[in-house]
Amino acid sequence: MTTPAFEATERAVRLPLRAGLEGLTPYGAPQLDVPVLLNVNENPYPPSDAVVADIADAVANAAHGLNRYPDRDFHELRAELAEYLRVESGVVVVPEQIWAANGSNEVMLHLLQAFGGTGRSVLSFAPTYSMYPEYARDTLTGWVAGRRAEDFTLDVDHARAQIAEHRPAVILLASPNNPTGTALPLSTIEAVCEAAATSGPPAPDGGTAASVVVVDEAYGEFRREGTASALTLLPRHPHLAVSRTMSKAFGMAGLRLGYLAAAPALVDVLRVVRLPYHLSAVTQAAALAALRHRAELMSQVASLRAERDDLVVWLRDHGLQVADSDANFVLFGLFDDRHAVWNGLLERGVLIREVGPDGWLRVSVGTPRETAAFKAALEEVLGW
Ligand SMILES: *Cc1c(COP(=O)(O)O)cnc(C)c1O
Repeated sequence: MTTPAFEATERAVRLPLRAGLEGLTPYGAPQLDVPVLLNVNENPYPPSDAVVADIADAVANAAHGLNRYPDRDFHELRAELAEYLRVESGVVVVPEQIWAANGSNEVMLHLLQAFGGTGRSVLSFAPTYSMYPEYARDTLTGWVAGRRAEDFTLDVDHARAQIAEHRPAVILLASPNNPTGTALPLSTIEAVCEAAATSGPPAPDGGTAASVVVVDEAYGEFRREGTASALTLLPRHPHLAVSRTMSKAFGMAGLRLGYLAAAPALVDVLRVVRLPYHLSAVTQAAALAALRHRAELMSQVASLRAERDDLVVWLRDHGLQVADSDANFVLFGLFDDRHAVWNGLLERGVLIREVGPDGWLRVSVGTPRETAAFKAALEEVLGW
């Protein structure tokens, strides 16, 4: 879109758009102004006044030093994130194993900037997160999509065959997966790590490198009892990175803070490709303040999980197909005309997401009131 003022001065030149970007539009879920927003898997509970006050104080403190560049290696934040992971998953990681950026989207972009590039490929398994091909495109890395099984898990033989065939520099596994909610068993991730130890692109010295295995645990905190985090595999696999975010369970999507845990040598490579001072002093201060309140911020996770499990049962009781979910959303179907169902809900003030394989829809778990509104609207739309 051009503004009228700009149009007046615009000259007829052609921009030297990079090959592959022609006609593309920016990624983003449609944001519509309706009463019930269940479309982008946010935590429906805003931070309390106490949390808000502490963040405001921390940011005010940081503001006194804004004439200076921030700590570019964010030592304090890395230590606190390591401590958070220890408490959340029981896995001990040291600060040197932590990397952070403006959302886990940027963390994963850093991974592809470091390990991808021309002549290399990144392998994932569809259906999965729609941003992955964009990281590939933006880093000139080839995109290869294998497939997930009928139940959205990953067949290990298929994964091994894809890895052997494509020799990817990076393998991206979302677990729990978006948009299906599927968590991969540890045995599957372990099998991929084993296969990936010597499956990467040829190294300059003629040897073979590993493929870097990235397990995207953006929804990790919502996993059901008995589902383990891939963090437990870190000590045995120096080519494994486990990505997390404060956007979902932590209820801080607006903060833009994602992070990963990996071997220190892998983290050191990411330090090479990041922009200098990519994490602002304001972001670091706000994230540290939020982490001090982790018990309160995370207190909703248990109820969101229970709410999710109830929603799965309710949808199944109504005869719908529902993918098992370890996340804060549920993929359900199958509809001959999913767009009509999506639109019927929208007309009743409920926004969900038309995403995933044909016939399926995805709804985020909201507050009990929002979930009730979703159920009431769906009953009307489907004439139950
Ligand atoms: C929401 C989401 C993220 C998180 O992105 P941020 O940049 O941290 O907000 C990462 N991976 C998947 C699969 C997601 O759905």
